[in-house]
Amino acid sequence: MVTEQLYELFLQHPVISTDTRKIVPGSLFFALKGDNFDANSFAQQAIEAGAAYAIIDNAHYRLSDQYILVDDALTQLQDLARYHRKQLQIPVIGLTGTNGKTTTKELIKAVLSQRFNTYATQGNLNNHIGVPLSILSVTPEHEMAVIEMGANHQKEIEMLCTISQPTHGLITNVGKAHLEGFGGTEGVKIAKGELYDYLKANNRTIFINTDSPVLAEMAAARDLHGTIGYGTKNAGNLISGHVTKNAPYVSLEWISPSGKSHEVDSHLTGAYNLDNMLVAICIGTHFKMEDAEINAGIAGYQPTNNRSQIMQTADNTLICDYYNANPSSMAVAIDNISTMDAKDKVLVLGDMFELGDESAAEHKAIIQKAIAAPVNHRIFIGKAFFEQKNGFTADFYETTEEAINALKENPIKHATVLIKGSRGMALERLTQLF
Ligand code: ATP
Ligand code: MG
Repeated sequence: MVTEQLYELFLQHPVISTDTRKIVPGSLFFALKGDNFDANSFAQQAIEAGAAYAIIDNAHYRLSDQYILVDDALTQLQDLARYHRKQLQIPVIGLTGTNGKTTTKELIKAVLSQRFNTYATQGNLNNHIGVPLSILSVTPEHEMAVIEMGANHQKEIEMLCTISQPTHGLITNVGKAHLEGFGGTEGVKIAKGELYDYLKANNRTIFINTDSPVLAEMAAARDLHGTIGYGTKNAGNLISGHVTKNAPYVSLEWISPSGKSHEVDSHLTGAYNLDNMLVAICIGTHFKMEDAEINAGIAGYQPTNNRSQIMQTADNTLICDYYNANPSSMAVAIDNISTMDAKDKVLVLGDMFELGDESAAEHKAIIQKAIAAPVNHRIFIGKAFFEQKNGFTADFYETTEEAINALKENPIKHATVLIKGSRGMALERLTQLF
C-alpha cells in the first residue's frame, strides 16, 4: 500500500497503537519488531482487541482485509509520519542535545501553552519510533509542536529531522553520553550537529546558547547566520539571564528585548536549568508572547519526572535525579548539591552506562569529583564504580540490592540526598529507604 492510501485510513483512524496491551479501539496497529519479539504475531490479538487495521510486514499473519501488508512496518510508520508532518502548517520546534532535552521540551511547552495549543513529545519518546508517534499525535487543532529527538549513533538526528521537519530548532548542549555509539566526544558533536545541518539546509530558525563554546564552534563551522541567541551575556542575544538563587530551587532574572528585567522562581533544582529555562523564554519571546505569559509558564512548571526534582520525605530532602546519568549530567548534579546550604549532604551515585572504552576513566573521575565535593557521605553503586574503588574512602556496593540492604541496616536521616544513576540502575528503588 502506498503512503497516500494509508494516510486516508489514518485520517479516519487517527490513533496509532504499537502495543497489544494498550490497544485503543479503532486505532491503527503497527506490527513493529523489538529485540525479543516480532509484533506480526500479535496482529490478530490487536484486531481482536479492537484495532481497526493492523499494518504487518509478514504475509503469513494476513487473515482478512483488516490486515494491511507492507514491506516494512517501521519504515511505513516513519513514512506516514513524514507525510502527516507535511500537511501540518504549524511551527515545529525540534530539539536535541546531550542533557536536558526532556526538561527543556517541557519548559518550552509550559511557556508556549500559555498562548498556543501546543503539542509536545510525551515523556521521552525521542527515537526512531517515538518521533514518528509524536508527529502522528499532532492534530489539526494544535498550533505548535515541540519534538524531542534523541540519538545514540550518527545519522539518527538527520533521519529524525526528515520526519519532524522542524521549522525551529536548538541543541541544548553537547557533552559526554553514549560515547560508545558515537565514537567519542567529537562524534557527539557531529551527531548533534545534524540538526544544525538540517535547519541550515532548509533555511530555518536556530536558537543558540551563546555561552557554549562548543555550540559556537559548531555554528562557526557551518557558517550559520541569523541565529537567535540566549545566554548570560546582554549584548547580541535576544534574551539574557542569570541565576539569582538556588536553594534548593532555581530563581532567575532575565532581560527582555525591551530591556525589562523579570525575576522568576522555578520549581527546578540545579543551576544548569538556567539554560533550559532561558531557551524556553527565548522561544516565547520570539513568538511574540507577553513577558507575563512567559513568566507564568516557567513558574508554573513542576517536574514530576525524576529529573531535577526535589522530594521531601519525613526524614530527608531528596534530589531525585535518577531518571538518567552520564559524566556531564553527573558533574553538574554534584556541583548543584555542593552549592546547597544543608548541614548533612549525601551522594548516592549509580553507574553510568554506554561509555565504552572511556567507562573506567569516567567513573574514576566522578569518584574523585565526589570525594572533593563538600558533602558528608558518599555511596557508589554498581560494577563500574566498584572496580575503581581502590584508594578511595567511601561506601561501594556492586549492586543496587546490596545498597538497599546496607541502607536498611543504617538508615540516613536529616540529610539532603542526591540520587543519580543510569536508567538501568533503577535507583528509584532506593527512594523509600530515605
Ligand atoms: P535523555 O537522553 O534520557 O532523553 P534528556 O536530554 O532528555 O535525557 P533530561 O531528562 O531533561 O535530559 O535531564 C536528565 C538529566 O540531565 C537531569 O536530571 C540533569 O541531571 C541533567 N541536565 C538537565 N539539564 C541539563 C543541562 N542544561 N546541562 C547539563 N545537565 C543537565
Ligand atoms: Mg529525554
